[in-house]
Amino acid sequence: MNNGNPAVSRLPPLVYHHCYSELELPERHRYPIGKYRALYQLLLSLGVPLENFLQAAPATFAQLALVHDPVYISELTSGAIDAKKMRRIGFPWSETLIQRSLQSTGGTIRTAELALEHGMAFHLSGGYHHAFANEGSGFCLFNDLAIAAKVMQQHGVGKILIFDCDVHQGDGTALIFAEDPAIITASLHGDKNFPSRKQRSDWDIGLDSQLTDGPYLQAVRESINYLLQLHQPDLVIYDAGVDIHQDDDLGLLNISTAGVFQRDVIVLTACRTANIPVAAVIGGGYQRDIQALSQVHLQLFRAAWQQMGATLCDNAPR
Ligand SMILES: [Zn+2]
Repeated sequence: MNNGNPAVSRLPPLVYHHCYSELELPERHRYPIGKYRALYQLLLSLGVPLENFLQAAPATFAQLALVHDPVYISELTSGAIDAKKMRRIGFPWSETLIQRSLQSTGGTIRTAELALEHGMAFHLSGGYHHAFANEGSGFCLFNDLAIAAKVMQQHGVGKILIFDCDVHQGDGTALIFAEDPAIITASLHGDKNFPSRKQRSDWDIGLDSQLTDGPYLQAVRESINYLLQLHQPDLVIYDAGVDIHQDDDLGLLNISTAGVFQRDVIVLTACRTANIPVAAVIGGGYQRDIQALSQVHLQLFRAAWQQMGATLCDNAPR
């Protein structure tokens, strides 16, 4: 539909796999599994060409083992994991769940590689930041952010900043890298929200419940500018979770859709101004209305298009 539109050639690569939304969950399960496909279809309807969407290879055991305990990986992938540990994750075990998680982890790795190549890249999944080295938690099986960071280290990337703006603290990521000075963890999260027991990131901002756009955006701006200047990372992995939104079922903040857009503009602009590649994942977002939720996740892509000077069917923040 946009063939011949020079703006389209400037779109950053997007990583997606159809399996992200293909998971059978019990009725009334709170996880909005359909949001990945809805976002993909929304982007297509706005004129993003099919060839902009790239697939990744699923994560390998060796890649998972850069972060996770081999016993945990084996028990989880084989289904031998005990029921209590699965309850903590919050999904019923299934082969489909495992395949989806491996694919999604591989997707964040691929997104980080593409970011190094193109300056920016985006994953229509990812942000499983509650997964620890030896157990999963809060809908997170494998910590894709941490695994992607470790794989990029293997590729020779020196310093990496994981900048996590999901409303929930990136507790798994924080603990995994507590002793690693080359991977900087930053989390801006609701102070009163899950997880009740917070870990110590290199940079934590605990936000007050019902916080509004103005003070929130100030905290984001100050944090990203300070951290980029202080650490001068070679790559930023950005968790653009939208559970900060005022209509979110699990967030406690009061951030508007325009506020989400502004946040993503601030982060992407800061990285591009400093000439640092940025790999972004969509992270959390828990409105039950999937169409409304995908409109909020869309703001990340609007912010990206603005950076690239691309205009699609409708590029105005709302
Ligand atoms: Zn979250």
